[in-house]
Amino acid sequence: MGYQYLFGPVPSRRLGVSLGIDLVPHKTCSYNCIYCECGKTTDLTVERSEFYPTDAIIAEIDDYLSTGPHLDYITFSGSGEPTLHSGMGTIARHIREHFPDYRMALLTNGSLLTDPAVRAEASLMHVVVPSMDAVSETVFKKIDRPYHTVTAQDVLAGLVTFREEFKGEIWLEIFIVPGLNDTDEELVLIRDGITQMHPDRIQLNALDRPGIYDWITTPTKEEMERIAGVLGFPDIEIVEGLPSRSDIASFSQDVRDSILGTIKRRPCTIDDLSRILGLHQNEVRKYIDPLLAEGLITEEREARGIFYRPR
Ligand code: SF4
Repeated sequence: MGYQYLFGPVPSRRLGVSLGIDLVPHKTCSYNCIYCECGKTTDLTVERSEFYPTDAIIAEIDDYLSTGPHLDYITFSGSGEPTLHSGMGTIARHIREHFPDYRMALLTNGSLLTDPAVRAEASLMHVVVPSMDAVSETVFKKIDRPYHTVTAQDVLAGLVTFREEFKGEIWLEIFIVPGLNDTDEELVLIRDGITQMHPDRIQLNALDRPGIYDWITTPTKEEMERIAGVLGFPDIEIVEGLPSRSDIASFSQDVRDSILGTIKRRPCTIDDLSRILGLHQNEVRKYIDPLLAEGLITEEREARGIFYRPR
């Protein structure tokens, strides 16, 4: 069965072997973050909708999980904000009921957690990974460029309430954009926000592949350590490169489709693809050259190497 809504499993730097469920069409989101790996938001919205038929997503999940594949997480994510799908709770409940051994994670920008119904659905997950890049309205608007009704204050309040209700783990992610949210002033506000929502883990992230704007730079390791120091919580994780995972037993048999599916979600180098797909670089190259020749993908040189994206 070819899958339309499932992708991977891919090795995620945070979640291990993760099967993704893509719940919204590219690129439907309540934010239009300047660093978004999925590109510019084309449907900027806070309105929930059944973007894809819930039943069809559940049918794919049933089919995929029927063979009992090894997964660390089933991850609600994709090319936009997954909580915008009105069937998210139904899907999560279905997995809880029929496949109780699997753990579920939700990657979210947290903006819809102001809604009690969304909080109830998100509470079905084992892990929720929300982002909070800024607490001041000015920096929030510059980095996340949200739908006009969304405020940083409301997002923080939603996260704090969610923390009170949710029994699972919250892994907060902060994306550092040098020059915007790395000032002491902003970091102190973020620190106060973290104190209110006390996440189980805090991860600092930064650009490691091309974004939309050339001016977004990657902070140095020392700079990230300074930021972690100002935030002042123990064990702040500074995200580094993708882990090598050669032990993914069940990735898609069709390497070509896997390469296309992976770079559709974010531009990758051959090295990235090699690690993500657990293949030798020479093996990946064998597929890349014909894809270039057929005009299905393009290449572009960036600081970290040559990145491939779909045409
Ligand atoms: S919230 Fe996530 S999907 Fe939405 S624009 Fe930001 S990075 Fe992209």
